[in-house]
Amino acid sequence: MATEVIKSKIRDVPDFPREGIIFKDITTVLRDPKAFSHAVDMLADHFKKHKIDYIAGIEARGFIFGSALAYKMGKGFIPIRKPGKLPAKTERVSYELEYGNDSLEIHTDAVEPGKNVLIVDDLLATGGTAEAAIKLVKKIGGVIVGIAFVVELEFLKGREKLPDDCKITRLISF
Ligand code: AMP
Repeated sequence: MATEVIKSKIRDVPDFPREGIIFKDITTVLRDPKAFSHAVDMLADHFKKHKIDYIAGIEARGFIFGSALAYKMGKGFIPIRKPGKLPAKTERVSYELEYGNDSLEIHTDAVEPGKNVLIVDDLLATGGTAEAAIKLVKKIGGVIVGIAFVVELEFLKGREKLPDDCKITRLISF
């Protein structure tokens, strides 16, 4: 099964970026052509009947899966970035991470009001990052079609932080 191929390529890195965190390393998925293409193809297949105008990827690993998916589905790609990286006028939302605090930004004019946006990231952990990304897209007038992850760490219950009306898709869970 395609999900098993992807799951088998995810590498556990203990104590990164700090002690006690088991980091799910997806670079080992990316370097495997089958696993990487399965991940993108499965997401594209899942969303093929949805009306999507843009795919928004969260820096940095969300850029990799998000832009590949946007290319595959023939959609525009929108980067949601760490503070100070986007050159034009931005909106900003701050959030808590599994290991620290951070903020995310989006270009204010990235989405025309009412357009449908699918958000993509590599992994759902505590949900703070995804929650901030959803807030950002809504702030600039986008309509959230859903949010998609390659991996969900279910034991961290990140999905409980996300709005009830936000459809969550994930390929693999731990
Ligand atoms: P969170 O806001 O806690 O849901 O964290 C999600 C973001 O942090 C994603 O962009 C992940 O790439 C990264 N992340 C958090 N925890 C882990 C982990 N244990 N393994 C790999 N990436 C993680």
